[in-house]
Amino acid sequence: MKEDNETETRSESKSFIESFIEADLKEGKNGGRIHTRFPPEPNGYLHIGHAKAICLNFGMARKYGGKCNLRFDDTNPVKEEIEYVDSIKEDIRWLGFDWEEREYYASDYFGKLFDFAVELIKKDLAYVDDQPADVISSQKGTPSQPGIESPFRKRTASENLNLFERMKQGEFDEGSRVLRAKIDMTSPNMHMRDPIIYRIIKSSHHRTGNTWIVYPMYDFAHGQSDYFEGVTHSLCTLEFEVHRPLYDWFIDQLKSDDYRPRQIEFNRLNLTYTMMSKRKLLELVREGNVSGWDDPRMPTLCGLRRRGYTPESIKRFVDLIGYTKVEAINDISLLEHAVREDLNLKAPRVLGVLNPLKVIIKNYPRDKVENVELVNNPEDESMGSRIVPFCNEVFIEQEDFMESPPNKFFRLAPGMEVRLKGAYIIKCEGFKKDEKTGNIEEVYCTYDPATRSGEHASEKKVKGTLHWVSARHAVDAEVRLYDRLFNHEDPSGQKDDDYRKFLNPASLKVLNGCKLEPSLKSAKRLEKFQFQRLGYFCVDYDSTESKLVFNRTVQLKDTWAKINK
Ligand code: ATP
Ligand code: MG
Repeated sequence: MKEDNETETRSESKSFIESFIEADLKEGKNGGRIHTRFPPEPNGYLHIGHAKAICLNFGMARKYGGKCNLRFDDTNPVKEEIEYVDSIKEDIRWLGFDWEEREYYASDYFGKLFDFAVELIKKDLAYVDDQPADVISSQKGTPSQPGIESPFRKRTASENLNLFERMKQGEFDEGSRVLRAKIDMTSPNMHMRDPIIYRIIKSSHHRTGNTWIVYPMYDFAHGQSDYFEGVTHSLCTLEFEVHRPLYDWFIDQLKSDDYRPRQIEFNRLNLTYTMMSKRKLLELVREGNVSGWDDPRMPTLCGLRRRGYTPESIKRFVDLIGYTKVEAINDISLLEHAVREDLNLKAPRVLGVLNPLKVIIKNYPRDKVENVELVNNPEDESMGSRIVPFCNEVFIEQEDFMESPPNKFFRLAPGMEVRLKGAYIIKCEGFKKDEKTGNIEEVYCTYDPATRSGEHASEKKVKGTLHWVSARHAVDAEVRLYDRLFNHEDPSGQKDDDYRKFLNPASLKVLNGCKLEPSLKSAKRLEKFQFQRLGYFCVDYDSTESKLVFNRTVQLKDTWAKINK
């Protein structure tokens, strides 16, 4: 199902999650405490889907005067790295959220979880299974067929205790034994069919080193971690709905007081032309299909940041799509709309030419330079204005000149007049063409001195206004233009699961020799601008004093309408 863009009003109405929380508050549950958590697994960089979960968890805590923990669900030492932990923290801070001193790790609870597993064994609610993983999974049955009990299910508690202890001591090989909860192999819920709760992994863990040889499964760690931390509302994505009875079963066995975290599920964020799985994003990085996790085409938060997205635009987008119980795929153009709206207010306008064509104004004095004053942002007077130099040679965009234009081409062509933004009206008197290639090399114009923009400009009107840059003052830049990384709406949802064949070969276009107005010489990393008529651009990390590099964040929706205003 594809959602349309008519979601403007949604942010004002209450989500079902807020209604649940408010009902709990009204009932006086948990003594009026609201405590949420964001629980990433540090096995990759955060993507925009995670932003949805972050905004929700931190947002609910903020709205209801509660707290939100950051908890790393680091139960798998093989895939987890400190690099990911650091990047996750940086990205959450960048979005504007703060977990204060509450930075937790599931690995902090390995001791407690082990003790709990021992307790389950003692109560005959867990057993060591010696069968290999594929046999265990073949005995699981199907949703319509009950599972088969393991031959090791009837082991005595003392035998299980002995084996589990020896698993912990490293006596057995990886994969040779697991600990399973003893629940019900005939349960209609597959997750209740004696799930594996501990496995042997002989890899070093990024925090606990070689202390542990048995590791809890995610499902055994997650719910209890929420419980240990006093989380009141465990907000997670819809796929965990079917795990909820299992989490509840574990909490029941903990023999807790009446407190338990309330799990509420919401729909994942999916975007058209995008895939979110960290595993697949890691493949893109490893296989060199992108330059890294922060490649501006990636849906990662660091990629979006480098592309020029602002935290406000991402939060606004998340607000627009809202939280529901129905899986959907959101249109990526809504995300682009959100960043455009935000940058429209914030980004100063500048002049830059991506594909330069030199225009020589023959009747303009060769040694003269005039300072043209241009407003930085017509949406915000307080952003002031700046001075841009004008002289007899300027660059315009190649596509703004045509030798034999069609009707209604309101740009430059032989005999036609256009205004150079903020400066004069010029008239095309001729051009130089390379007869071999057909390339236009120079255009010759005259200007009308009575038409300088400002209060005293003559009455003369022209239909087209072009952006330009003084050829003698321009600074050179490399500009990277981006298109969608995939040319399929749902690249990872296809039958054979090979998203690679949908990679868009034209997703990156690098332009060298772009010409920008001189004020951009001092532009700083990640600084954002609107290049008039061309879109929003942001200074890339590769940019240096001697070579400016810009990324295009997004194109302007309505280029002509804007410039002719
Ligand atoms: P992926 O499938 O991309 O690897 P994950 O769910 O395994 O993601 P986690 O690190 O476990 O990644 O996610 C942390 C939290 O973010 C979880 O609570 C999860 O529900 C939430 N989350 C992950 N992806 C999305 C998404 N696309 N939309 C909303 N929330 C998400
Ligand atoms: Mg996960």
